[in-house]
Amino acid sequence: MSNAIFRVPEPVNESIKTYAPGTPERAELKAKLKELASLQPDIPMVIGGRPVRTGKLGDCRPPHESSKLLGRYHIGNKKHALDAIKAAQKAKTAWAATPFHDRAAVFLRAAELLAGPWRQVFNAATMHTLSKNVFQAEIDAVCELIDFWRFNVKYAQDLYEHQPTSQPGMWNRVEYRALEGFVFAVSPFNFTSIAGNLPTAPALMGNTVVWKPCKTTMFAAHFIMELLHAAGLPDGVINMVTGNSSEIGTTVIDHPDLAGVHFTGSTPVFQWMWKRIGENIARYKTYPRLVGETGGKNFVFMHASADLDNAATALTRGAFEYQGQKCSAASRAYIPESQWPKLMKKMEEQLGRVKMGHPQDMGNFMNAVIDKASYENITSYFPHVTARNGAKFIFGGKASDKKGYFIEPTVIKTTKHDFITMREELFGPVLTVYTYPEKRYAETLKLCDKTSPYALTGSVLARERSAISQASEALMHAAGNFYVNDKPTGAVVGQQPFGGSRASGTNDKAGSFLNLVRWVSTRTTKELFVPPSDFTYPFMSKN
Ligand code: NAD
Repeated sequence: MSNAIFRVPEPVNESIKTYAPGTPERAELKAKLKELASLQPDIPMVIGGRPVRTGKLGDCRPPHESSKLLGRYHIGNKKHALDAIKAAQKAKTAWAATPFHDRAAVFLRAAELLAGPWRQVFNAATMHTLSKNVFQAEIDAVCELIDFWRFNVKYAQDLYEHQPTSQPGMWNRVEYRALEGFVFAVSPFNFTSIAGNLPTAPALMGNTVVWKPCKTTMFAAHFIMELLHAAGLPDGVINMVTGNSSEIGTTVIDHPDLAGVHFTGSTPVFQWMWKRIGENIARYKTYPRLVGETGGKNFVFMHASADLDNAATALTRGAFEYQGQKCSAASRAYIPESQWPKLMKKMEEQLGRVKMGHPQDMGNFMNAVIDKASYENITSYFPHVTARNGAKFIFGGKASDKKGYFIEPTVIKTTKHDFITMREELFGPVLTVYTYPEKRYAETLKLCDKTSPYALTGSVLARERSAISQASEALMHAAGNFYVNDKPTGAVVGQQPFGGSRASGTNDKAGSFLNLVRWVSTRTTKELFVPPSDFTYPFMSKN
């Protein structure tokens, strides 16, 4: 019992290390990459704090070297999903009653462990498992996850401090209770930070969680559980289960105690969850909170006044960093006809210098796409690129899955604003360019707004202020994260809260107080100090 109102430390964004030749971090990373490459862990599920092994095993393999085995993980089933729910329910009362400063300290400690002794574990695991170069791993698995944990603690404190006013003689209070039931967190393959944030944001607010990571990321997910344990997270607060997505998903979603879903992944999977929850609605004890950040078809819209070097760089980085597998990656570009020949030359020059290969070779800007299914899906769009369809390859268009899943940075030029790759999310290193007559700026902004169902990120590139304002207005609902003279990727926690609307999600902005609001259910208390002792009011008296 502490008779004090504590204040959490003021959060700061974790600084990105350079990994330039000769730096200590580069040497530490190389050693850790080597160590993890031969570690071959036997990865259990974690239910109620206990490792659970089934003997049914899945392989962890690097996407850039599919013949190599990194480790194996145990695959669970319906029974394990139900056990995880039970474990979450068992841990709930004690965790929800744990004072905020104790809950906060667990995640602040996790952040500092990650910034220090665990930094290269997370970088190396992410480079091996997700096929990220060191910069992409550092900004994701280290900096963004640390930022999620530091900033969410501050946002939680801000939320708890938000209290109603009280008239004389009374005291009004609002409590931010954890949700009644458990939260289901389901994470995608592409960010270790998202995998870490989806279960921990609800847990910070006093909830207990069943977490299903993506199977391709189990090697990294394993270290998230180990780090949280090292940081002092009590058993059963976060329970990690694996298994067939639909079997686990159906079991958990059909449970009457489901209180919320914290999902990041593709639009069809989230829509399936929402539909199933809708069908189940009468069986739940409370209306489940649904938070889903989903797909995108992110645009870069260039005005004729934009700087060409900046435009080429925004497109090269925006479309091809992490092989175009960021939810925010640029995948369609609107370029003035008059500027395209010059821009194309600059892009060809930049893309000609892009190297692709193993992330351990630090000269590589690009690495492999996540798995065979993704490789096949992305390349299945290439046969559509024909003169008959009004499309041609400007750059790339080749791929190989001999050693790993490598797809060249690919630029398609189309004369059709609604060409298939201008509408659908490919989630790979493919950028489609549509050129427009300079005079049709306003009309083309309208096309950009309406061509795809998504609204995640987008950029406008222009020097003329009026062109920026016009785009900002016309594209008001086309992106939840809108950039001016920058690439549409690289949002930072605490600086650009991230999320989109339309088919891109519920826009609850990961890493912001808006997200945390979804994991609490408020109780309002009114207390009177001197309550009335008679029911009559003055207007009722005769004189
Ligand atoms: P995915 O939808 O294929 O899988 C996401 C997760 O859902 C995985 O863990 C998967 O196993 C699980 N899943 C699939 N079917 C399920 C079911 N029936 N029940 C329960 N779980 C189920 O997505 P992905 O390929 O891992 O990730 C890429 C997608 O994620 C892209 O569409 C991308 O745009 C999106 N994404 C969005 C954001 C954002 O903030 N908006 C961030 C990252 C990724």
